[in-house]
Amino acid sequence: MNIDEPALNETSLDTQLKGAHLALDGGDVQTGRELSHKVLKAAQTLGNKRFEAKALLCLAHCDRMLSRYRRAHRASQLAAQGFQLLGDTPGEVLALATHAFVALNLGRNEEAVEAALLSVRLSEFLDNDEHSVLSYNALGAAYFWSHHFDKAEQALRTAIQIAEHASPPLSTFQPQINQWWAQVIRIFHERYYEGGLPSLALMRMHREAVMRQVVREDASEFPMGTNVTTEAVLLFGASLDACWHGQLDQAADDLVALTGWAQRYGTLTWLSALEAWAGAEIAWARRDWPGATQHAAKMIEIAVTVEHEQLACLGHLLASQLFMAQGLHGRALDELRRLRLREQLIRSDCLETRENVVDWQIDLRLRQQSIDRLELTSRQLEKLSLEDALTGIPNRRDFERYASELLQRGLEQGQPPCLALVDVDKFKLINDNFSHQVGDAVLKRIAQILKSHVREDDMAARLGGDEFVIIFKTTDLKVAQQVCQRICDAVRAFDWSSISPQLESSLSVGVVRAEPGDTVASLTHRSDTAMYDEKKTRR
Ligand code: GH3
Ligand code: MG
Repeated sequence: MNIDEPALNETSLDTQLKGAHLALDGGDVQTGRELSHKVLKAAQTLGNKRFEAKALLCLAHCDRMLSRYRRAHRASQLAAQGFQLLGDTPGEVLALATHAFVALNLGRNEEAVEAALLSVRLSEFLDNDEHSVLSYNALGAAYFWSHHFDKAEQALRTAIQIAEHASPPLSTFQPQINQWWAQVIRIFHERYYEGGLPSLALMRMHREAVMRQVVREDASEFPMGTNVTTEAVLLFGASLDACWHGQLDQAADDLVALTGWAQRYGTLTWLSALEAWAGAEIAWARRDWPGATQHAAKMIEIAVTVEHEQLACLGHLLASQLFMAQGLHGRALDELRRLRLREQLIRSDCLETRENVVDWQIDLRLRQQSIDRLELTSRQLEKLSLEDALTGIPNRRDFERYASELLQRGLEQGQPPCLALVDVDKFKLINDNFSHQVGDAVLKRIAQILKSHVREDDMAARLGGDEFVIIFKTTDLKVAQQVCQRICDAVRAFDWSSISPQLESSLSVGVVRAEPGDTVASLTHRSDTAMYDEKKTRR
């Protein structure tokens, strides 16, 4: 590894990601993007899913600021999915809110409403007002761009209420600026349908509220990376407000200031499309038709370049209005046709990502199913590893585990357990005279008899071959011997001829009691000796 490279671990990922957010906050989006991209690659190398999702969300913010909405769309979607897989609901809420904004800019209104609604619903499970404000703010924006102005107002008011009632109170700036944006969009469309400007009172009211908020709040406290955007959007608002109120010189001054801010990111962003829009409005108010048409065309061109479909669509509507105002109905109609085509493109684009979402859902379900299957298999494997395959009673492994547990506890408490070694008499002959299958049947039957004679706390197991073992929890040797006697009687009394004519079977058993210092091995060895002694005397 190159020694100049920082070590790849969670701490260094955290430090780098904090650096990315800091750069983004400071308006240096390019650096923010580079850092978060580095973190993403490192997290992928490390297989650290949490930092992968975090880095993707930061990348989405950067790309959103840089007006690279398609890239931001993919990143925010992957981030939301990553957080969902991790069960990180706060992360998912943030990613979904960002995804809603990005989808909006791409003109995918339904998708934006869906993501924002999901973000709102999930945020309700969290006790975090900041997340709720963000989610409702996203929902408000999704609604007004979809022309649901009442629903937008409701969502934005909810965001403001939550922010005001939080302790300490949170900034109401973003939802307020969206209340104003909603009015701009409403007025723009009403002007188109009604042929003249409707009342500007509500728009002015919201703008004044935003401006009061700007004075009240320290601009440095605005959420990440929005400073440049905020300044530019406020100036656009000022310019549009002045223009629609007939103060054209003021509007032009504000536009010049807006141009200054729009260049801050060092790359073409949607702010330049706003600039062209304000330019077109001012030129229109001055009856400068060529200037207005040029600006509208520029607005569309920039909006398409920066993937801001909403502004591209507004641009076509604006151009159409300008041609209508000049009596150029054919050209006005052309713009409407272009608008229709654009909307169709958005729709087919949108369908493709919906297919991706379905694929993701299927993938998620398959993953869950395979996890369930793995869990089942490992449970089955564990069971199998402790069970004797032929008889189904515990095997040597399970016996050793349980016996050592019982032995240790028993010796500690002064209640040593008893152990019996059980061997089938002349079992080899059964195999030889009858068959291996009959031998197996005998072993299975003996296992059943052993099992049915011991208590729940005791254990009968097969050590292997024709050897069985019983560990008794009882400390009374006599009791253990009595149980073993009953077992031997039961085996002798069993109707073996039901398996094969003339078949018979008996057991030899050696029972001992544990003594201090005994291990499972020593205890087994002693009972084995006792069993052989018994076998010998009986012979
Ligand atoms: P003893 O009375 O001294 O115990 O004589 P025995 O014939 O029982 O002698 P031994 O314990 O050595 O014989 C065990 C036999 O069990 C030998 C082996 O072939 C047979 N055996 C081991 N495992 C199985 C099994 O899973 N199924 C069957 N049918 N036979 C097995
Ligand atoms: Mg035997």
